[in-house]
Amino acid sequence: MSVVKTRFAPSPTGYLHIGGARTALFSWAYAKRHGGQFILRIEDTDVARSTPEAVQAILDGMAWLQLDHDEGPFYQMQRMDVYKRMIQRMLDEGHAYYCYCSKEELDALREQQMQQGIKPRYDGRWRPEPGKVLPPPPDNVPPVVRFKNPTEGVVVWQDLVKGRIEIANAELDDLIIARADGTPTYNFCVVVDDWEMGITQVIRGDDHVNNTPRQINMLKALGATVPQYAHLSMILGDDGQKLSKRHGAVSVMQYHEDGYLREAVLNYLARLGWSHGDDEVFSMAQFCQWFDLDHITPSAAQFNTEKLNWLNAHYIKTLPLERLADEVKPRLLALGITDTQAPDLHAVLTLYRERANNLNQLAKEIAFFYQTPVINEADAAKHIQPETAAIIEAFVQQVQDSAWTADILHDALNQVVAAQQIKFPKLAMPLRVAVIGIAQSPSIDQVMALLGKTVCLQRLRVLFPNLTA
Ligand code: GLU
Repeated sequence: MSVVKTRFAPSPTGYLHIGGARTALFSWAYAKRHGGQFILRIEDTDVARSTPEAVQAILDGMAWLQLDHDEGPFYQMQRMDVYKRMIQRMLDEGHAYYCYCSKEELDALREQQMQQGIKPRYDGRWRPEPGKVLPPPPDNVPPVVRFKNPTEGVVVWQDLVKGRIEIANAELDDLIIARADGTPTYNFCVVVDDWEMGITQVIRGDDHVNNTPRQINMLKALGATVPQYAHLSMILGDDGQKLSKRHGAVSVMQYHEDGYLREAVLNYLARLGWSHGDDEVFSMAQFCQWFDLDHITPSAAQFNTEKLNWLNAHYIKTLPLERLADEVKPRLLALGITDTQAPDLHAVLTLYRERANNLNQLAKEIAFFYQTPVINEADAAKHIQPETAAIIEAFVQQVQDSAWTADILHDALNQVVAAQQIKFPKLAMPLRVAVIGIAQSPSIDQVMALLGKTVCLQRLRVLFPNLTA
């Protein structure tokens, strides 16, 4: 039994998007599950569209998701001599041939086939056959190299997601494997790399299904072992349309910026087209023990932002505090907060994480612990009434000389409410507005206890300058 080796082979023409990340996750998990290896290969031969920024974006995305590779990253542009050697070998062994058709000739051929109502395809005019006499090569046309695809029989593979797929060779024309300038083409590089790198399972998006029969034929011509293939269906947006920028964030790093935890994104992606009974929430360690290709749905998976948010909330609630604090600190820093010692950030997060489903939102909500809040005008207008100052005055008198714990504050709130014969919000809401800036918070006694007496009284005095207490 050969050791399992999978790969993720993105073309660096943009950011790492959600679909790519899922492909990477499944390839990575498959290797982990089988004690195998996972390779990262950057397919950068399309020099017109590949950029160093896109390479970096892919590396960043993979690093953020912690999808570590065991080998690589390999860069195809650095492997040109390997491909060229293989092209020469294909020529030497009669699996490939030079084709001198000019662009004009190919255009004319295409035109003619279209007029005849047949599918445009190369007609094999430079393909050597026993007994066939080829024209003398023209001087002025640098040749391309074409693969000599079998003309008869079928290519068959048992796709690990889609089941048996069969394509007649008659459907496939002779693919160009080297351009006139000698550079190898995309499909050929993939073939050489999958073979040389010992890939045992090719897990990729089903936009590559059409390439597979050609790749299998080339692998066979090279005498290579053909890997298994698993083609993942595409991901649709919330609205059932193909996932695109229209649906909001499609770049993985955008999710990071938008306040999502990698634990949530990974868990979410794992369930996007794959299932393990009714399990919805699981760690990556668990996923790597469960993951198999049998439970991938062949139909398209639909993106569901609500579910991602739900998972994000779950992980915000349950992650170790240290880990959550590490995620929140840079977001507080972005709000200008450098010091999170007082009150202790862990204590603040314990109080606030229950209600959050987003890290940016969480950071914004707790910012008032570390900087003076901006008072929300609408909340102030709604909750601060002519009689409020007297109520606050009574409260401050009650607490100003006592210890400042949540329990004591809780009792004081109840006593003032009873003594003033008012409803609880009449006191709690103005307190919130003054201390937090808005009228929503977890229990106000706990918030005030964390914030400390000095800061609370100071903020109350700002909003109620005539306090005598
Ligand atoms: N480079 C291809 C892409 O980004 C993937 C090729 C493959 O997985 O075989 O779509």
